[in-house]
Amino acid sequence: MACKIGIPRGLWFYDYYPLWKTFYEELGAEVILSNPTNKKTLDAGVKNTVDEACLPVKIFHGHVLDLKDKVDFIFLPKLMSAYEKEYICPKFCGLPEMVTHSIKDLPPIIDTEINFNHSRRNLMKTVYSFGNYVTQNPIAIKRAYSKALDAYHDYKEKIKGGSYPINGEFNDHDLNREKASITIAVMGHSYNIYDQYGSMSLIDKLHEHRIKVITPEMMDYRRVNEYAESLEKKMFWSYGRKLLGTAMYFADAKNIDGIVYLSSFGCGIDSIIEELVERKTRKEGKMPFLLVTVDEHTGEAGVNTRLEAFIDMIEWRKKNETNLSTHG
Ligand code: SF4
Repeated sequence: MACKIGIPRGLWFYDYYPLWKTFYEELGAEVILSNPTNKKTLDAGVKNTVDEACLPVKIFHGHVLDLKDKVDFIFLPKLMSAYEKEYICPKFCGLPEMVTHSIKDLPPIIDTEINFNHSRRNLMKTVYSFGNYVTQNPIAIKRAYSKALDAYHDYKEKIKGGSYPINGEFNDHDLNREKASITIAVMGHSYNIYDQYGSMSLIDKLHEHRIKVITPEMMDYRRVNEYAESLEKKMFWSYGRKLLGTAMYFADAKNIDGIVYLSSFGCGIDSIIEELVERKTRKEGKMPFLLVTVDEHTGEAGVNTRLEAFIDMIEWRKKNETNLSTHG
């Protein structure tokens, strides 16, 4: 019988899951994803995580609990660095330890370290180590990894083409790009903006107003990088670097009417980045900017009211003239 590998639908899931799902399926494993985030996931996560953790980490714990009794292994790599000379948030680095200390009686964890600051040879060693949970055949692992990379690139291209991986699934029925007269960039970590429950359906809400939505993952990575390179000081947090580069790109772009930054309460990186993004876009780029910070207590009604006021202001500004307050 095929071994069952559970992938929690949180954090790096939104950036990498097609890669690991394809990899393990090619090796003959059955991959089981946790259910999309819902109230039960959130409540279970909040109950089993330290209070100081940010909302996405709490949600992640809820996803692990959802998989706990359904699988033989839980995929929970120790993601240190995804780009050379850069680091992911410290909470990612300590995630396997945090989860195993908070949740008892888990199945074995696939907690191999991913660190792009090590050599390329080491990267292949890492891939073999992931594959060895299913097979000892290096040729099969290499072949599966190559197919997985193809799936990963297809996924990235699809997002760049304007699709949204809401809960990790593409659903294009609600695109009204031809009819949209307003374009809003939704900024934030991928696991915040594409998690339907955690984001309070932000993208759908904007679509209901016939607004075209663009996200950081749709931007040309090379251009974003060029902007990020021009920062006075190198930003070594990968997510921060991507968001700042994107904000500078948007500040120069003439086709964006406003920015909504979706942030998590308790996120150390966001507390710096959102301020810098606001400076680059609202203050320097004269672009309307709305910051929405969420935690497990945030009421959806309050977010709706602020969002609607922001949209009204952009519509008014577009209809009347361009030299108005950018405070949102
Ligand atoms: S970057 Fe922020 S939101 Fe993401 S895991 Fe780290 S602290 Fe949490």
